[in-house]
Amino acid sequence: MTFEASKQPAPAGKVVLRLLAAPERSEPDAFDDNDAFRRSLLDPANSDRWFVPTVQGGILLVVEKGYLDDALLDRVSADLQEAVEAVPRLTGRAPRRRGRFTVYVYDEGPLSESGVPGALPGEKGIMLRFVKEGADPLFHEMTHLLAGHGGSQSLNEGIADWVQSRLRPGRSTAFIPARTNPHAKARAALATYPPAFRGAIGAPGYHRWSGREIRFDFYYCSWSFTDFLLRQGDMGRFWSVLEAEAAPDAYLAAYGRTYEVLIDEWSQEVGGRAKTGLE
Ligand SMILES: [Zn+2]
Repeated sequence: MTFEASKQPAPAGKVVLRLLAAPERSEPDAFDDNDAFRRSLLDPANSDRWFVPTVQGGILLVVEKGYLDDALLDRVSADLQEAVEAVPRLTGRAPRRRGRFTVYVYDEGPLSESGVPGALPGEKGIMLRFVKEGADPLFHEMTHLLAGHGGSQSLNEGIADWVQSRLRPGRSTAFIPARTNPHAKARAALATYPPAFRGAIGAPGYHRWSGREIRFDFYYCSWSFTDFLLRQGDMGRFWSVLEAEAAPDAYLAAYGRTYEVLIDEWSQEVGGRAKTGLE
């Protein structure tokens, strides 16, 4: 293993240590649509590996050859170290995952995703695009990986976007433009789509949307509704709902109001906010 300390100070002002890691046997133990892509990226001919030390076992960073310069490598390493510390603090959840995991970084390829097979059997990982563009959803994917998820796509994505926006306010992320106000987006979306759309926000289950626009609006509304919920009570309440797969009883137990009342309050709030220009 070669030690290579970073030359550039990390955003937090401390020097990031990343170690150039030697290639190792790589046998991901699961298959999905992107398995062939990851196996190809794990080929030492196609990527460089770095070990990023963290308080909970470290991260194997697999970077497509030639994709990132030193400054960007330092930035993504520092962001990963920050995420390991900040995601549990912001979400109030002890990490669901211990030990090493893998982060795949590449230019052209599948969309960013969490919970994918890591380099070795039993390891998990995340796939990260748009690092070079400064628009990677690193804190979003790390929230899925570390804080975990429940049976509500809306709340899973809502908390991930909420954490991302808390740690990098106003920054563009994947397909979210810079300085997006989720409440203004939610107000417009609620005025556009039929009531069934509103009924999907904060609800159990997973959804397949017919197009990009409505899928993005579902994410914005979920982010806005999650922000609303997190202002109604502590983090433990939010997770109690998500652990119960967003069942109506869980909302009532956590917040003392039914799901329908909460959705109504949220809808009224986003309408009012947008009108008064508050963010
Ligand atoms: Zn997500």
